[in-house]
Amino acid sequence: MNTAWLWVGLRLVTVLGVSLVLGLVLGEVAWCMVAALSGCLGWHLLSLYRLDRWLKAHRTDRPPKAYGIWAQVYDSLYNLRSRNRQGKRRLAQFLSRFREAAEALPDGAVALGPERRILWYNSAAARMLGLRRRDLNRPISNLVRNPEFTALLRAGRFDGAVEVPSPVNESVQLSLRLVNYDEDQDLLLSADITRLRNLERTRRDFVSNMSHELRTPLTVLSGYAESMLDSGEFLNSPWQRPLQHINQQAVRMFTVVEDLLTLSRLESGGRRQPDEPVPVHGILAVIREDALSLSGSRAHEVTLSADASEWLLGQERELRSAFSNLVFNAVRYTPDGGRIGIHWYRDQDRSLCLSVTDNGEGIPAQHLSRLTERFYRVDVARSREAGGTGLGLAIVKHVLLRHDARLEIQSQIGQGSVFTCRFDDKRGITPDRQLAGQNPSTMAAFKTAKQA
Ligand code: ADP
Repeated sequence: MNTAWLWVGLRLVTVLGVSLVLGLVLGEVAWCMVAALSGCLGWHLLSLYRLDRWLKAHRTDRPPKAYGIWAQVYDSLYNLRSRNRQGKRRLAQFLSRFREAAEALPDGAVALGPERRILWYNSAAARMLGLRRRDLNRPISNLVRNPEFTALLRAGRFDGAVEVPSPVNESVQLSLRLVNYDEDQDLLLSADITRLRNLERTRRDFVSNMSHELRTPLTVLSGYAESMLDSGEFLNSPWQRPLQHINQQAVRMFTVVEDLLTLSRLESGGRRQPDEPVPVHGILAVIREDALSLSGSRAHEVTLSADASEWLLGQERELRSAFSNLVFNAVRYTPDGGRIGIHWYRDQDRSLCLSVTDNGEGIPAQHLSRLTERFYRVDVARSREAGGTGLGLAIVKHVLLRHDARLEIQSQIGQGSVFTCRFDDKRGITPDRQLAGQNPSTMAAFKTAKQA
């Protein structure tokens, strides 16, 4: 037991004992006891009063002098108060440092509470989103009005970002990202990506303009070289080989230019025609014929297995280009007489898949993740010799991106490769779905296309 409390008990017993003896001597035991107890109570009340005054004064100095148990209570309260004050000071320092750091951020940060109401924001957010003090506690959706952003908020998606024009200045492009850090507490991060987007557009425009400019001279060059060779005038002359070379290189450059134009068209993400039902099996049959002609005397065996009832919603021209790139690559990189398989099927996870398999030499694992980069080749000389531009798989990747699909590549050295385009189930369209309430206009297009 605490010794202070022992002293309280001892003191009370002594006072009561002395007052009892005094009462017996004076013959007034009751009055003496009452007087002693009143004295004790008065002393405690006085100490309590002084403590109350000290607490209310909010003073930082030590409490008034006290005795006995009250000295201990005063000290405990004083220590508690000091600790509390230190904690508050530390918290205030931390908060001010946090605010300074948040203010120094080049990106905007907005803390959102329940119903996505604004709790706090830094000055970058105020600049980018046009927030003011009076906007505190208002829902962010009232201030940033953009359909994509509203969809992001509604879906509560914390994995992706949306790009929206700034509500303050339409020419400023912002990337907005939502991060959840507690229940009903989100952080909205905004970054100004105008410069990045402008740079990308400049690069795209440059490539596209250059390609357009190169197209005509290349056509003229190759046309003249071809005519000169066809005329027979240079047959067996020293100019025959240089002319053939000029023609080959001009055609090669023309192919690169065409691929670059295709890529920049895909990248620009410009206005798209509405998606249409695409008869994949029909496209693949034509591609197979083209692959056989490309193979020619190299005598590849090209097989096709395609589920004719599975159609795809998308852009026929783009899909044709992506699929043929994969099949022609298989022809190019598989030794003569090799086996190439084209398969169009619905997988166990209900996704729709186009796989192109070959039993060629395969691709070393360290190259797989980089194959879709533009101009990336495993063997540059081999690709050139095979008539490749290094842009085929980049085109495939972009086409698939525009169709919410992805490319999977598996390859084993010495055994061959499998390139699979995996489309989401929602892109698939089959006659059975008509019963399940498909979009009527889509189904009408499907029927027309099927009849054709
Ligand atoms: P390229 O025009 O050079 O074929 P791609 O982008 O189409 O460019 O392909 C990139 C590289 O991937 C090729 O250079 C080749 O090395 C490799 N590649 C593509 N398809 C296959 C395949 N079926 N088998 C082996 N290698 C392949």
